[in-house]
Amino acid sequence: MSDRENVSRELRKWKEKYFDQVGEAEKKEKSLNEHVSLLQRILVRVSLAAEGQNPRLDNELGNLREILRRENPGQLELTKRLSDIESAVLELDHQRAEHSTQVVGALQNLIDQLTGFDLERGQKRRLKSLAKMLKGQQLNLKEYPNLLHQYAEIQESALREQLMQMGDASRPGLLNRLFGRSGSSGATQTNGQSTGDVASKASDIEDTAGSDDTELDITLSDENGEPVPGFSTIAGHVCGALNNLIEQLTLPENATKEAERLQENISRGLNWYELGPTLDDVANLVISAVGRGQHEFEAFLQGLDERLAKLQSFLSDSRRHTDDWRSNSGELDRMVRSQVSSISDEIANATDMNRLKLSINSHLDAIVSTMDEYRVSEERREGELNQQLTALQERLCSMEQETGAIRERLREERSRALTDVLTQLPNREAFDERYELEYERWLRYRQPATLVVGDIDFFKRVNDQYGHLAGDKVIQIIAKEIKLRTRKTDFVARYGGEEFVILLPETPLEMAQSVMDKTREMISRLPFHFRNERVQITMSFGMVAFAEGMNKESLFDLADQALYRAKGDGRNQVAVA
Ligand code: GH3
Ligand code: MG
Ligand code: MG
Repeated sequence: MSDRENVSRELRKWKEKYFDQVGEAEKKEKSLNEHVSLLQRILVRVSLAAEGQNPRLDNELGNLREILRRENPGQLELTKRLSDIESAVLELDHQRAEHSTQVVGALQNLIDQLTGFDLERGQKRRLKSLAKMLKGQQLNLKEYPNLLHQYAEIQESALREQLMQMGDASRPGLLNRLFGRSGSSGATQTNGQSTGDVASKASDIEDTAGSDDTELDITLSDENGEPVPGFSTIAGHVCGALNNLIEQLTLPENATKEAERLQENISRGLNWYELGPTLDDVANLVISAVGRGQHEFEAFLQGLDERLAKLQSFLSDSRRHTDDWRSNSGELDRMVRSQVSSISDEIANATDMNRLKLSINSHLDAIVSTMDEYRVSEERREGELNQQLTALQERLCSMEQETGAIRERLREERSRALTDVLTQLPNREAFDERYELEYERWLRYRQPATLVVGDIDFFKRVNDQYGHLAGDKVIQIIAKEIKLRTRKTDFVARYGGEEFVILLPETPLEMAQSVMDKTREMISRLPFHFRNERVQITMSFGMVAFAEGMNKESLFDLADQALYRAKGDGRNQVAVA
């Protein structure tokens, strides 16, 4: 009994703990909601920071903010907005692709113009393959500067060829110096002696030559002082094409001055010396227009997008957490608020786009890394909670085992309580239970059933003549004999003293009568010997069939009365009520 009280006290304790935790969970949810709205505000500020790149993207970011400002933005709608933003970014991409088509067109123009000249076969081939590269495939923006450079090389070699044909064959060193400048001028300076004939010839000329203007005269005039026809015939085309190219470039702000300067120079007309450097300058301009600038911007947008995605996933992750937010969330709250207010200050006072980008990046990094720390500590907390839960589960499991053991003990105790120690037959309590059950069954199914009571004849004499131990032995042996003579489905109990009761379910009276009569006879034949003398012991029985209009008590009375009659009629017999 005290075990059972312990168990129920334990259970009550655990129950209270569970209710406490439910209350806790509600508080946590409230705090969680506050965080969701804080993070929504962050998304709003971040989307403001991404503005100004493209009208449609601006519009989408505006829509996102509209949703986020609402009381309870739906997850679905947010997802839709984010996909719209994605498509706006794709559109930006598309614009860039169009822009690149323009660049390709301009380059194509240049190539066409050069093709019009009388070129060497190798140069024609290179030009053809360049044109093929332009037409053939989707080109990466990064490759344009390289293409332009290749073009410049073909052009250089074509012009050199023409000049060589017309001018002095002893001047390749000078020409090399002029057109070999890209990529080799540094090497020439640091390693002048070892770079070979061309380089040393070039420096010879530099040593003996006066100013660049003198060189110009030498290069562009023949002996009669006439300008070299090679370059002058194409200068106009080249300048026009270069100007055209520059016009089509969409340039970052810091490159427009340089573009204007170049265009001015080109419009004034290029001389032979200026062509090489100018081509290089144009190449750099193209790099800044289609290469570095765009990529920088693209990387910035992508970085911003990733961070937004991280914030977003943190938001949705957080919804799933039900841990205790309070201790950690104060820290997170302060951090995020200060970063966000710094971002908005920066935006308000922004004068320089690049610095603004850097600053927003660092703020976002700080926010994201704080959230990471937060997530780590939340995971640790979750781990601890899991451990507690595991411990709780183990506790419950061991409690279950204990309860099982107790139940088993109770069952044993109960079975002991229902068993007669002397005969190991069910006792009177067990009979009462079973009688109740069989009676109920009979009421429901009305199958024939019989109740028998039996009592050993003149038992007092056994006790008196041979002692109580002998009497006990007789009770034991007779109990065994009755059990042996009845069916498994019959129920035999020691009712008290030397009295027994037998329940025979599904057994009509006549059948029960023959079973009991046989039993009675077998008992009378049991070979009892006391003090070397054969002693016959007999038993009398009274029986009754379950019948309409009877209850348990009246049935038992009838059987008992029949037994009384059997005793009166001379014992060792079965009487029927
Ligand atoms: P009857 O034929 O009329 O039944 O005669 P009887 O002597 O058997 O009379 P009764 O049933 O009144 O006596 C029962 C006796 O059985 C009384 C008691 O001393 C004895 N007895 C009851 N329980 C036990 C027991 O557990 N062990 C022994 N040895 N004797 C018992
Ligand atoms: Mg008796
Ligand atoms: Mg008796």
